[in-house]
Amino acid sequence: MRLLIFGPPGSGKGTRARLISRLLKIPVITTGDMLRGEVSRETEVGLRAKAYMERGELVPDELVIELVEERLRREDCSEGFILDGFPRTLRQADALDRILGERGVTLDLVLNIVVDPEVVVERLSLRRWCPRCGAIYNLKYDPPRVDEICDECGAQLIQRSDDREEVVRRRLRVYEEQTRPILERYMERSLVREMRGDIPIEEIPREVEEVLGPYLGNHLD
Ligand code: ADP
Ligand code: ZN
Repeated sequence: MRLLIFGPPGSGKGTRARLISRLLKIPVITTGDMLRGEVSRETEVGLRAKAYMERGELVPDELVIELVEERLRREDCSEGFILDGFPRTLRQADALDRILGERGVTLDLVLNIVVDPEVVVERLSLRRWCPRCGAIYNLKYDPPRVDEICDECGAQLIQRSDDREEVVRRRLRVYEEQTRPILERYMERSLVREMRGDIPIEEIPREVEEVLGPYLGNHLD
């Protein structure tokens, strides 16, 4: 199964993507994490991407498209994948159509998370991130067991510099202007299913199972 998770920053794309990944046993491709990895390893891509990310702007299309195209070629994507954070512009959406078309496959589903922008601003100010394994926490709604330490791998959690309020507001604007318009294309193809982004974390598994119900047949016992 090949699916996209769509929604503004802080809408809970990552949480849902990880859950679906476990349910369907397909990998999540998170462009934000891949780019942060490039930045921390100080690769050529990372050095070019860093300033855009810190400002809350999009990294140039060709950099991201190349990363994703390479990642999708790996063996673990042959049975399907979840794209989290890509495509984010019309050019990226065109590139994805081309990449899939070249392999004779299509998307199965686009999950669109709907959430109020003010909820996002509050949530992101409380978000902490594990730089080693990518796990995400929320100090109020989903805190780690030990203060500021990752449950999964024990690394020290950090706040992303782009989770500061003024940068979050810029990211929300960028989302409205550059990313949301892509949804129309997927709506025309009847691929879009909506999810509510404002439900409590404990209810997310049920929400995911409800929406994915028809696709889960052979995966859930
Ligand atoms: P969020 O979805 O919460 O905004 P991400 O971790 O997905 O955060 O992305 C963080 C930053 O990484 C973005 O603000 C942008 O600079 C960059 N980025 C991630 N994915 C893309 C993409 N597909 N195209 C361009 N830039 C991207
Ligand atoms: Zn971790």
